[in-house]
Amino acid sequence: MSNQYDVIVIGAGIGGLSTGLHLLDKGYKTLILEAHTLPGGLCTSFERKGYTIDTSIHWLVGCIEGGVVWHTLNRFNLLPEVKLRRLEQLATIRTPEHEVTIGDDVGEYERFLCRLFPSDERELVRFFKRAKSLPRMIEPSPEDRKRHPFKSLGSLFSYWPLIMLAFQFGKLSYDSYLKRFKEKPRIKPYLSVFTDDSSVLINFYLFSWLHQQDLYTPQVNSLGFSRAFESRFKAMGGEIRYNARVSKILVNDGKVKGVSLANGEEIYGKAVVSNADGYQTLFQLLGKEFVPPSLVHLYETAPLFGSMLMVSLGVNQVLTEKDMPARMLSEWVTPETTGVKLTDLEKAPVTYKLESLYNQAVAPPGKSLLLFEAMADFNEWKTLRPDSTRYKEAKQLAGEIALRRTETCFPQLKGKLEVIDVATPVTFERYTCNREGSIQGWRPTPEMIRHMNLPWKPTYLPNLFMVGQWVSVGGGIPPSVMGGEKVAGLVARYLK
Ligand SMILES: Cc1cc2nc3c(=O)[nH]c(=O)nc-3n(C[C@H](O)[C@H](O)[C@H](O)COP(=O)(O)OP(=O)(O)OC[C@H]3O[C@@H](n4cnc5c(N)ncnc54)[C@H](O)[C@@H]3O)c2cc1C
Repeated sequence: MSNQYDVIVIGAGIGGLSTGLHLLDKGYKTLILEAHTLPGGLCTSFERKGYTIDTSIHWLVGCIEGGVVWHTLNRFNLLPEVKLRRLEQLATIRTPEHEVTIGDDVGEYERFLCRLFPSDERELVRFFKRAKSLPRMIEPSPEDRKRHPFKSLGSLFSYWPLIMLAFQFGKLSYDSYLKRFKEKPRIKPYLSVFTDDSSVLINFYLFSWLHQQDLYTPQVNSLGFSRAFESRFKAMGGEIRYNARVSKILVNDGKVKGVSLANGEEIYGKAVVSNADGYQTLFQLLGKEFVPPSLVHLYETAPLFGSMLMVSLGVNQVLTEKDMPARMLSEWVTPETTGVKLTDLEKAPVTYKLESLYNQAVAPPGKSLLLFEAMADFNEWKTLRPDSTRYKEAKQLAGEIALRRTETCFPQLKGKLEVIDVATPVTFERYTCNREGSIQGWRPTPEMIRHMNLPWKPTYLPNLFMVGQWVSVGGGIPPSVMGGEKVAGLVARYLK
């Protein structure tokens, strides 16, 4: 086994795998080091009593032809592996007064809301007009850009409506935007699936993706999605090592020279790309002295996306679109969206996801898999964790509440829920090393949205790069996939 590479990538999350593929494509000898035994990071799945429980992809945007995710999937021939299916519905919203499914006919949804909230018709029409004006997430391929520079210019012009909206609403959170509506508290659940302090631009984008028919889901589970990247990486000659936790980024003479692993082994590279948690990369694997003060300040103060309580429920019955037309149902009892404590779980907004709807393979024959998810308070679970009895009791309580709420929401499931698995924010932190178990990195507040992409080359060192959810505000699979292409280009420029 060699200990000398052109590029070492820390982490086999989607960001690391995508970077690895693009680096191999450019001819660089690349090694990926992954702390876990599996690829995927947050984009993974695990087995419980015959069920395959997914931790990630529900929707994927940027998958239409020419889309930012499509480019990588197409270039590495991954489209047949991941079997994308377009989603015709975003979600079902259930409030104490109504239940509605948001389909890709955004106009129909707009009309529904105008009927429900006639006094806010004017503002609703404006909201959807803004959403529909946003450009598609399409870009010319790098080859196209070289061949036809004017295409890039054209795509820049297509971003004009976004620039205008950013100028007008860039400083507004969803909560402040809602002040324009007379029926603010009632309207709130219908126009967002993010936290109240998220930028309103994200909510415009949500409906724009739907309108542009750019919401997809892979018909393989999340681990299958990651495995597709991993297999192609190996087939192209890339090396990947599991159980290989990086404990230090080695620096010599103002440059990164490689990494050392937890077992003391040293591996050398001309450049290092970290896909691992940003805080860990900059302050634990490296040191504060290499990081510009402005970035240190951001890491000390900026809000995280937050983590999740995820209860997986094995159902002894086949559930279909009649039970859950959109595969995802958001249930609003009270409107509080951030950091839900266990004591609030009975009433917190929660999301149900019928995982087996488009991929029956995740449940044994004749059964279904339903997830119950709520944004959760990391500190509460972190405090409980050292006392294993209290932690287990809290997990059990969370499972019981999830069960009760699920049976109330879907009375047809009474007595049919047979497997319960509870994952807490601490579980997400433990398995993926993401700070506070954050499931998407930074929270896309108006202040953070300004940054959009944090520096890909975040330190004073010229050959250390970062990729993934900690450099792309708001996180998710698309920025990690497209970040791979971007960062491989920067590495290539450095190595040349
Ligand atoms: C429940 C849930 C639902 C989601 N739903 C969606 C969705 O519907 N659509 C969507 O687009 N996104 C979704 N996401 C978010 C998405 O999964 C993540 O934003 C994305 O997978 C992040 O990928 P990444 O490569 O940036 O980072 P990660 O997945 O965090 O990968 C980082 C990798 O680095 C490894 N690592 C860390 N430290 C070290 C070290 N010291 N040495 C070696 N390896 C290390 C980790 O083990 C991990 O494998 C969801 C996430 C969750 C949890």
